Amino acid sequence: MTPKITFEEHFMAPGFEKYSEAFLKLIPRDQAEILTRRLGDFDGERIEIMDRAGITRSIISLTGPGAQGEVPENAANAAKGANDFLAEKIAKNADRLGGLATLPMHDPEAAARELNRSVCELGFQGCLVNSHTHGVYYEGPEYDPFWSEVERLGVPFYLHPSNAYVTPHVLGGMPVIQGATWGWGVETGSHALRILFGGVFDRFPKLKLVLGHMGEALPFLRWRYDSRFQAYPMGVSLDRAPSAYFGSNILITTSGVCSHASLMGAIGEMGEDAVMFSIDYPYEDTDLAVEFIETAPLDEAMRAKVCHDNAARLFGLPTLSERDGY
Ligand code: MN
Repeated sequence: MTPKITFEEHFMAPGFEKYSEAFLKLIPRDQAEILTRRLGDFDGERIEIMDRAGITRSIISLTGPGAQGEVPENAANAAKGANDFLAEKIAKNADRLGGLATLPMHDPEAAARELNRSVCELGFQGCLVNSHTHGVYYEGPEYDPFWSEVERLGVPFYLHPSNAYVTPHVLGGMPVIQGATWGWGVETGSHALRILFGGVFDRFPKLKLVLGHMGEALPFLRWRYDSRFQAYPMGVSLDRAPSAYFGSNILITTSGVCSHASLMGAIGEMGEDAVMFSIDYPYEDTDLAVEFIETAPLDEAMRAKVCHDNAARLFGLPTLSERDGY
């Protein structure tokens, strides 16, 4: 089995359970119990499932909305508490787990400080942010101090889904398409495009922004972004064609999309260095995701990149050949 690094994998920290209650009420009780148990486990079932899947390291993050759900006055303290909690859990399994920080994105400077603390003092590998914070997006100049710190630290920024701030009219009255099925991707993909067309990657060219769920479908429209932006730039100018930011500044994971056709299309659009395996544990099924990637029509060198080495390079971890001559 190909060794794997995964990094859209979630846990629950004390004090944040209230944010999951509404969701857990909507799903069957036995499923809710399994999710709750798995989110709160760090060294039992989580590690057993990793072993079975060939996952050598899982870089985990607080389930949404994390500190972003807090009111501004509490957000920095809540983030600090959750990140300290995670650091303690990682320390008990330091060879198997890593961490992505939750951040008080309400305040760009506070978010930059907590990211710095999480990376430099707690040893985390980056941050995972659940799209907007109370309706605020991050492409404006007020967030430049934050992006500057992300770039300076050289760690990835995982842009993870959340509910829309205001339900788009077209999704109104249809809860079935407002969440993971479609709406979260619209929210998160649109946020990524705000960051791209807002010029954040031109101001901070070394940034690495990661999208889950096969890039929230954005890779499949790269050609159209170039074509229509050239025709109708609407006063926006960018250093490069929109498509060029994909595969360089924007990277993706396969979390929650176990389709070989989508994987091959995404690799075609993004390049084989910019697509990385992940699962979205415990919300998605590990066995299914492993079966998908182990049977994908990739040669073994490319499978090793997607499963392990692309993520290893992103996080500054040893690649398979550096580690054991795989
Ligand atoms: Mn997730």
